[in-house]
Amino acid sequence: MTDTITYEEYGNLYLNITNRCTARCEFCIKFYTDGVYGYNLHLSKEPAVDEIITALQQHNLSQYNEVVFAGFGEPLTRLDDVLTIIKWLKQYKTFVRIDTIGHVLLYYPKRNVVAELKASGLDAISISLNAHDQNTYNQLCHPSKLEAYQSVLKFARQSQKAGIKTRLTVVKLPIIDMKKCQRIAEGLGVDFKIRG
Ligand code: SF4
Repeated sequence: MTDTITYEEYGNLYLNITNRCTARCEFCIKFYTDGVYGYNLHLSKEPAVDEIITALQQHNLSQYNEVVFAGFGEPLTRLDDVLTIIKWLKQYKTFVRIDTIGHVLLYYPKRNVVAELKASGLDAISISLNAHDQNTYNQLCHPSKLEAYQSVLKFARQSQKAGIKTRLTVVKLPIIDMKKCQRIAEGLGVDFKIRG
């Protein structure tokens, strides 16, 4: 079976470029199912940049509201590849968003990641906040670095300041205090969304 690199839903085109992740969230659907919207998102191998661009070329990009990096993994584990693909997409004036767990600053401490994302032309970023405090976050998301929660907040703050449309999201679970999460988003001046 061919791997699913691109898939469509809600008038958007989604990019599934990795199955690696820097967290292991209790609620992650990849542990319970093969994919979403009828697409199998398990990859037999990570597609190379030229394979991703070939997959994108099969689509009329002007028909989509957004092209979104979102699959069964954390796209920013492939930061340089993501930057290359965004620059390629922006030739077509595509609106580009990344859905991310937001740990990227921890993994590239010597780089100005947000400035690089902004310079590539990235329009929007949706960051999974997932909890109202670090303890709950670590309990729920099992990040590979325990200080990840503070880094997520820093990343959101920097993105908003850089002029990237920034959103924090949480999954609706009883363990999560939605009001506190919303106040965190408001404090950072970013959008807030509760995921189903
Ligand atoms: S960050 Fe996303 S892909 Fe990674 S474990 Fe959590 S839900 Fe799954």
